[in-house]
Amino acid sequence: MTLTPSHTPAAAAAAAAAVTIPVLPGLPTGIDSTDVVVQMVRRAASRGFESWWRKAENVGFCANPIHLSGIDTFGRQHLVFTRCNNRRAVACPSCSDLYARDTWQLVHAGLHGGHHDMPTTIAGHPQVLARLTAPSFGPVHTAGDDTHRSHARRCHDPGHRGYIRCPHGKPLWCSTIHGDNDAQVGQPLCEDCYDYTGHTLFAWHAPELWRRFTISLRRLLDSHLRAIGEPAKSVHINYVKVAEMQRRAIPHFHAVIRLDGSPLPNGTGERGDQPEKHRRR
Ligand SMILES: [Zn+2]
Ligand SMILES: [Zn+2]
Ligand SMILES: [Zn+2]
Repeated sequence: MTLTPSHTPAAAAAAAAAVTIPVLPGLPTGIDSTDVVVQMVRRAASRGFESWWRKAENVGFCANPIHLSGIDTFGRQHLVFTRCNNRRAVACPSCSDLYARDTWQLVHAGLHGGHHDMPTTIAGHPQVLARLTAPSFGPVHTAGDDTHRSHARRCHDPGHRGYIRCPHGKPLWCSTIHGDNDAQVGQPLCEDCYDYTGHTLFAWHAPELWRRFTISLRRLLDSHLRAIGEPAKSVHINYVKVAEMQRRAIPHFHAVIRLDGSPLPNGTGERGDQPEKHRRR
């Protein structure tokens, strides 16, 4: 066989050096792709690859599987993987995706019925999608598309209020169109103006605020029922709630709130006064 110049060892080494390792999808920032590719190749070439692959596949390729070890009755040690079940995509894309799918099933069953033991008549119950957001504790840098004008939105467009400065002399405008990954997003336009105390207190008390909201809602419903001559507690409130962390590092809640009667007139086995699987998270 004749080696052309491009097949000489020197040329091959130069070609290998020139190979650019692509950015691997889902790889956290700060991790070198080259090291990961080298580890992948080493793993794929190892003798135990097949059994390792099956273990990884069984836990849905969880990023941080918990390693459980045990000894069987013959004294042999076994190692099994189990999912980390972390809901955060940055910690584990696989488990957070599974959690999102499970939640979708839960919410869909509660809204439309037809699966997970929920009758389709549930879709006819009064339901509301509520979003409960914290008040402003001072202007912060924002990102996002402007769906009304179908182009990216400027952070704080001076067009509305003009070029106003805060008492500390900092600009209260920002003409930048921030990307979603911009570290500035969520940060105050002026740290001295921002109400950090209010922010911290709100975040601390957010679960209690939600609890009191549900108590008030039930009391309001009961008084309304009494006002129209219906017995109190004849209508029950069921909800599913998801807490989401905003970029300004404050939680807000998305909730689907549904009203169920008890007993239900159609006798389909609906469990109006029983705690349902999707009642609370
Ligand atoms: Zn995981
Ligand atoms: Zn900005
Ligand atoms: Zn200021």
